[in-house]
Amino acid sequence: MYDLIVIGAGPSGIFASIFFKKNNKSAKVLILEKTDIVLHKVKISGGGRCNVTNIENDPKILVKNYPRGYKELLSCFYKFNTKDTINFFENKNIKLKSQVDGRVFPQSNNSMSIVNALLDEIDKLNIEIKKNQSVVNIKKENDLFEINTNNEKFLAKNLLIATGSSKMGYEFAKIFDHTIIEPIPSLFTFNCKNFLLKDLSGVAIKDAMVKIVDSKFYQLGDLLITHFGFSGPCILKLSAFAARYIFEKKYIFKISINWLGELNFENILNKLIEFKKKNPNQKLLQNNIFNLPKNLSKHFLKSLKIIDKKLIEISKKDLINLSNKLTNDIYQINTKSLNKQEFVTCGGIKLNEVDFKTMQSKKTKNLYFAGEVLDIDGITGGFNFQNAFTTGYIAGTSMKTNDNNQNT
Ligand SMILES: Cc1cc2nc3c(=O)[nH]c(=O)nc-3n(C[C@H](O)[C@H](O)[C@H](O)COP(=O)(O)OP(=O)(O)OC[C@H]3O[C@@H](n4cnc5c(N)ncnc54)[C@H](O)[C@@H]3O)c2cc1C
Repeated sequence: MYDLIVIGAGPSGIFASIFFKKNNKSAKVLILEKTDIVLHKVKISGGGRCNVTNIENDPKILVKNYPRGYKELLSCFYKFNTKDTINFFENKNIKLKSQVDGRVFPQSNNSMSIVNALLDEIDKLNIEIKKNQSVVNIKKENDLFEINTNNEKFLAKNLLIATGSSKMGYEFAKIFDHTIIEPIPSLFTFNCKNFLLKDLSGVAIKDAMVKIVDSKFYQLGDLLITHFGFSGPCILKLSAFAARYIFEKKYIFKISINWLGELNFENILNKLIEFKKKNPNQKLLQNNIFNLPKNLSKHFLKSLKIIDKKLIEISKKDLINLSNKLTNDIYQINTKSLNKQEFVTCGGIKLNEVDFKTMQSKKTKNLYFAGEVLDIDGITGGFNFQNAFTTGYIAGTSMKTNDNNQNT
């Protein structure tokens, strides 16, 4: 019999078991993992570097990085946020570094630093991990959870479901009457059929504005042209905030790009007219007045057939067309690709059925949830691990060994 069984050896389950065991030294804790690798996603995360968290530590700003879960996470971040994650690892002598974009990585640039720090702690605290144990069924009888795996049966007083985006995790939650918000992908890139800009693959644009046509969704940020369409922080963020809308559109929708970010059509047209007045004998490409990557400017000027013309030869209509192209360039998106560096599931256990003070189910006593199994997901930047650590910490510090002392 265990005081706590955790299903899933991901960051949320590992974190919860560490904090539970720290507070309950004599408790028996078991983590069941279906594969033979623990912390697999941490290992492969951030291209093997592990973007472990973010430097932003103001809970009110931090929550803005979560398209789903921002309301619930606010109070949680006052208990455990990115600063606490950084302290946790630095206290284990893992040196971390932050990039200008706020992402935090181990100084070693190797995710194994993070994996090993967590596993050392598991070892020190005498927490048992059983690998190759795929949980297939759970029931609760006489206040105890009976957990059946492919080859063994276990009993536990407390159960934490920390199965990430695995379908089985959702099935377990349903056994206890929880509602599952349909899981769909988040953090993906946009692909176009017959992509006109494919020769510009690799070109990055600073602070472009991308809007999904006929929707409320838009993002300002760095944009990357790929072989098949568009990627970069701006697109990933847009894919996250509009994940369900795009899913409902079956990934077929139009985007409008303002290559110059917040400058509008009038600003640009006026600037072009002004420039033409002052420099009638010059060509637009030579001057690159909007500071766009040269190949991209070339593409626009070529497509409007004004690349070889001096400004005096360019009509007002051409300048209007160019201003339009720069501020409202429409592309038809036909499919998506998963972002290789990081992806996450939108959807999961409905949040109002979980008490975020404890991460306990509101439907079943002593049943807890943490991490991506919940309907919480963040944009790229270390926010998804932070969700796993924060909810894992809250579950771990809320669970009790003594039945008379349970949180409800
Ligand atoms: C390629 C990639 C890169 C990423 N990079 C980053 C990054 O750099 N920064 C960031 O913040 N986020 C990143 N993420 C997202 C992040 O990995 C997840 O949000 C996070 O791992 C979720 O943690 P978790 O503990 O909830 O679930 P998981 O890490 O998914 O762990 C769940 C565990 O449960 C196990 N399990 C499932 N079902 C069962 C069962 N029936 N029985 C037993 N065990 C079971 C699984 O095998 C798994 O080990 C990345 C994701 C991917 C896919």
